[in-house]
Amino acid sequence: MFSVTSMANDFMTAKLIDGKALADSIKARVKEQAAQLQNSRGITPGLATVLVGENPASKTYVASKQKTVQELEMYSVGHTLPADISQNDLLNIIRDLGADAKIHGILVQLPLPAHIDQETVLAAIPLEKDVDGFHPINVGRLAMLKTLSVINRAPLFVPCTPAGCLALIDASGTKIEGARAVVIGRSNIVGLPVAFLLLHRNATVTICHSHTQNLPAVVGQADIVVAAIGKPRFVQADWIKPGATVIDVGINEIPDATKKSGKRLIGDVDFENAQNVAGAITPVPGGVGPMTIAMLMQNTLTAAQRAGDLIA
Ligand code: NAD
Repeated sequence: MFSVTSMANDFMTAKLIDGKALADSIKARVKEQAAQLQNSRGITPGLATVLVGENPASKTYVASKQKTVQELEMYSVGHTLPADISQNDLLNIIRDLGADAKIHGILVQLPLPAHIDQETVLAAIPLEKDVDGFHPINVGRLAMLKTLSVINRAPLFVPCTPAGCLALIDASGTKIEGARAVVIGRSNIVGLPVAFLLLHRNATVTICHSHTQNLPAVVGQADIVVAAIGKPRFVQADWIKPGATVIDVGINEIPDATKKSGKRLIGDVDFENAQNVAGAITPVPGGVGPMTIAMLMQNTLTAAQRAGDLIA
């Protein structure tokens, strides 16, 4: 339905799912609603980011989240903490942010250093400020079926990257209900929540991981493929069922002498070849990445609207 036959050859050319354009439209709406909240109630949505250590990728992600909050004229606070901070000191900072009325969302950038217990830290974020959706209660609610539409049972926030993946599938026009979906990767932050969201939307979901046997054959059955592995060009074009919708979550740095930086980002899917087979596909960069940030902005706005008793 979304593919067109190229004039030059017989390959299909996938519809490109433009994550940047979709993210831009979500951010524009968030900016407008944030301004309305400020005008009508004097509430400026506030996001606190907490970065522990020097992981270069984490630093980049946090910087772009902060920059976007500022672009949307919301309030932002950034804590950059040394890698050897004690768990107690980190918990105290999170408790202070939890008590700060100007802060509606708290994002702790993962992964945390090994000496810190991630779950203890995530559980210290007040549920109503858990804009990343990783508080154990929000995760548990997401895992339970038939809760998403029930107020007081639904997670207060859905994790941003998984929510972005679903929005991209919807934007492509792909029908999720009844589709066969294969999620490659079972991490707590991407693969597992994506699988739950697809299940909630009545897809038939298979979760693949590093122990999966005959992965190409499993992927070949999928109408929807979500790749969240962290290995460059891992998913091959000839694994993909013709016409399938492919969401590439991977962010991998590879050397590229033609770039000033000497490197560039690519996804987990062999995009160049897969675009000739898939019906719709996300690029990297410009696919899932911008949507993650847009969903974080949306969640921060939602948290502020709830703080103002404007929504449930
Ligand atoms: P992770 O390392 O926590 O998980 C990787 C998953 O891939 C694991 O579940 C593992 O079982 C699976 N896997 C590894 N080797 C495999 C194999 N040979 N066959 C099948 N499955 C295999 O990674 P993550 O945090 O889930 O991130 C995955 C990718 O997504 C990374 O490239 C990361 O940078 C990217 N990411 C992007 C965004 C975004 O906003 N675009 C957000 C988060 C993560």
